[in-house]
Amino acid sequence: MRYFSTRGDEAVALEQAIMSGTAPDGGLFVPAEIPTMVDGVADGEAGAINVLASQMLAPFFDGSYLEDELPAICDEAFNFAVELRAVEDADEYWSLLELFHGPTAAFKDFGARFLAACMSRIVTSPAYARGPATILVATSGDTGGAVAAAFHRQPGIRVIVLYPDGRVSTRQEHQLTCWGDNVTSLAVRGEFDDCQNLVKAAFADRDIARRYNLCSANSINVGRLLPQTVYYAWAALTSRRNHGVDPNFVVPTGNLGNAFACVWARRMGFPVGRLILATNANRTIPAFISSGNWEPRPSIATLASAMDVGNPSNMERLRDLAGGHAEVVQEVEAISADDAQIRRMISDTWERHGVAVCPHTAAGIHAMREAGGPGSRGRDHWIVVATAHPAKFEAIVEPAIGSSVPLPPSLAEILGWDASHDTIAPSLDALRAYL
Ligand SMILES: *Cc1c(COP(=O)(O)O)cnc(C)c1O
Repeated sequence: MRYFSTRGDEAVALEQAIMSGTAPDGGLFVPAEIPTMVDGVADGEAGAINVLASQMLAPFFDGSYLEDELPAICDEAFNFAVELRAVEDADEYWSLLELFHGPTAAFKDFGARFLAACMSRIVTSPAYARGPATILVATSGDTGGAVAAAFHRQPGIRVIVLYPDGRVSTRQEHQLTCWGDNVTSLAVRGEFDDCQNLVKAAFADRDIARRYNLCSANSINVGRLLPQTVYYAWAALTSRRNHGVDPNFVVPTGNLGNAFACVWARRMGFPVGRLILATNANRTIPAFISSGNWEPRPSIATLASAMDVGNPSNMERLRDLAGGHAEVVQEVEAISADDAQIRRMISDTWERHGVAVCPHTAAGIHAMREAGGPGSRGRDHWIVVATAHPAKFEAIVEPAIGSSVPLPPSLAEILGWDASHDTIAPSLDALRAYL
């Protein structure tokens, strides 16, 4: 399989698309075609998720020197549970797709672990002439933790994470700074944008970029999107077997990486019904769906902070795949929730079902209800994607439900480790000292 930029027609191999992140023309890499699953994959049993992953992703790895490694990559990346949790009472019956059972308790573990498994094989392959790589990533919280955890002790790769000093939660900071070895996390005196600008400046400096073989691991990397198709396929097959209908999915959305993978899974032939993008008060996507005008705007801070995105990059892939606005609205719907609605859904879901959810997931539950769900048993079935464990956002969730949220074991383990970090000024000279 070859990979094309959304903005041009120069094709590259999978390894190159993974290592370069963004296409040279500024576009995003997409596969030459979305393979339709045959041989019972799209209408069979879901089975074990690592096995399904390896079956589904094989056509995307066709012709790559990673092809033979794909089963091992999938075993490494999909080594924790995915769960469909039934939520029910006398009037309603729906499911949460829990994607937070990985090391850092958010769905980004899937993409980060898969990317790490691919990249470590690429940089240590004789076919790759550029030697060890340095991954430089700016984070407002979740991405950096998932990337640090996934690349920790991977051969041939160093990781430098930049985060805004004093602007991530205590637990998030711990997840960023407890690794050591090949992972360095630096607090930058500034905001997330200063971190992002520093990363851009380093990549733009040809000497630095070449000398340290800088690579990115951000969410537009095709190596993060591909593995995300797998849990949609798994959940759609499992749900159809249990309920006899193609389930509707609601996906809490920021940069549109997670939800876009669901669009690919449906194109591959997996039984996905309606797809609702749930946003917070950052309404760029819902506004586009209703007006047809694409108007990125500055991001607004909300309770669902990992979705505070005013210019969702993966929209470029969705528009490229679908065509125009008329086709995009055939693929997806979009509904936003403000902070009051998010808070209300956290407490309602607790009171009604005894289930604690994170603010992002709460935006999804709000969207499901606005979209006419959930149905009763035997009619339609709704799946809301639970993107993070509520204990990651305890400062918001615990007051809303009036109860404490126990830490999942993986997170408790990480929080028990020692952590330390340096703080730097937002300048390239200060960063250079750590490269
Ligand atoms: C990153 C993130 C999102 C948003 O995912 P996108 O792929 O950017 O749309 C939602 N919820 C949580 C908890 C996240 O970490």
